[in-house]
Amino acid sequence: MEKIISFKRYICGYEEFDFSELYKGCSDGIKKLPVNVFLTEHKKFGTILINTGCSKTMRTNATSYSRLTSKHKLSFTDDDSIKARLLADKLDPVCIKKVLLTHCDPECCAGLKLLPRYEIISTAQVLSILWLADPSDGIISSTLPSAEIPRSAAGLFSGKSFLSDYFKWVFDVFGDGTVLAVDISGHAKSMAGFFLTEKNIFLAADASIDETALSGKTEPTNKLLKLQFYPKDYINVLKTLRKLKNDHPEIQFVFSHSENVPSF
Ligand SMILES: [Zn+2]
Repeated sequence: MEKIISFKRYICGYEEFDFSELYKGCSDGIKKLPVNVFLTEHKKFGTILINTGCSKTMRTNATSYSRLTSKHKLSFTDDDSIKARLLADKLDPVCIKKVLLTHCDPECCAGLKLLPRYEIISTAQVLSILWLADPSDGIISSTLPSAEIPRSAAGLFSGKSFLSDYFKWVFDVFGDGTVLAVDISGHAKSMAGFFLTEKNIFLAADASIDETALSGKTEPTNKLLKLQFYPKDYINVLKTLRKLKNDHPEIQFVFSHSENVPSF
């Protein structure tokens, strides 16, 4: 019997990308893509969010916000916040018991302060970034919740997974093998990808803007690489994901800015 019983996405803001500048030989021009937040229901652990999207907490520190938006063209209104999205969907934000973070960029963390009661789960590497809140990591500290929020790091997966052929460590987010985490750092200093094992959905965060580069038909330009924390790792992760996709066509990759997201 499956343990992850539902999965859907909320769009919590938009980001613009000029594909003609960011991918070699691409003439798609500017695309306005969603900032995705995912909501999933685990039979035992209840309602879980994956990332929290944009919110006005990002604008609290005007200097950090203008530094951020000089690199990324973001747009969002109060109605785009995760809290507003949940309420519009007749869900009380108090129902969110766990928040999984792929990484600590403002677009992942900015909804945290709007939620009342939850614990944060990710890999120890991602959580350590959150803990230090070093602005050089791109974090806007005003988006972060107080230090008292419980945080737990996923332990190593004790079972067998084909993901071990591609990633050095495989973590078990809930300890039941339903959601595995792997390190896909490069875009950020630390970034986790989450794999929903029962449905073969790989949430690959910002390892690529969207599916465009996954086919291998185009490559990131230097301009796109310059936006990444570790450009070489970014390329290596992209290569790993391409191989994974090639070897396992049953996997559906979903990025933070994917337009098409599965739901069940
Ligand atoms: Zn990011």
